[in-house]
Amino acid sequence: MTSYVKEILTGFYSLLAGMGVTIRYFVKPIVTVQYPREKLQMSPAYRGHTEFVLDPETQTHRCIACELCSRTCPSQLIHLEGVKVGKKKLPSKYVIEYHLCSLCGLCVEVCPTQALQFSKEYRLAGYSRQDAVIDVFARMQAQQRRLGWPVTPIPEPQPEAEGEAEAKPKPAKAKPAAKKAEKPAEAEAAPAAPETPATPAEEEEKS
Ligand code: SF4
Ligand code: SF4
Repeated sequence: MTSYVKEILTGFYSLLAGMGVTIRYFVKPIVTVQYPREKLQMSPAYRGHTEFVLDPETQTHRCIACELCSRTCPSQLIHLEGVKVGKKKLPSKYVIEYHLCSLCGLCVEVCPTQALQFSKEYRLAGYSRQDAVIDVFARMQAQQRRLGWPVTPIPEPQPEAEGEAEAKPKPAKAKPAAKKAEKPAEAEAAPAAPETPATPAEEEEKS
């Protein structure tokens, strides 16, 4: 009988202890989120994959396609192409293989125009390596659409301006043609002198 009462009291105590924990956490601030419906606010130090910085003044990127980032990257995972548009050079392709990235930050540090930053993206799970290949240019265009800013088109190389084409020196093919042209002219300038026929008086003297 004594042990029976003891068991009841022990069970009651554990029930109260469990309820105490529940009540204590019930009044504490919630730290969990309803993933994936809710999105986490990442700390400023968090490093996701790299992305273009959107300049609020120009409402576009600041990249000048200098290729410093792609040359500096120790994993050689940045695939960048640039085209000349007038006097500027602009990126027409900027793709990263994020699954190879060590998040070392060298590309961000070396950029002369501060065109790169680490994103706060953390939902990066995928089914294949291809899912980790990130088109940074297309991502920037999507951000511009979300912000209601004009979408930066992929630049195409422009044909040379007429003035520039004329200013260029002409190819040195004209020289042989000029030499050829000189030779016949010289030949024409010095023809063999025709013999003047003798007069009848001179012929009589000879005979
Ligand atoms: S963070 Fe480092 S490894 Fe990643 S892309 Fe930049 S330079 Fe390459
Ligand atoms: S270093 Fe900066 S400006 Fe140069 S290509 Fe990379 S992102 Fe663009």
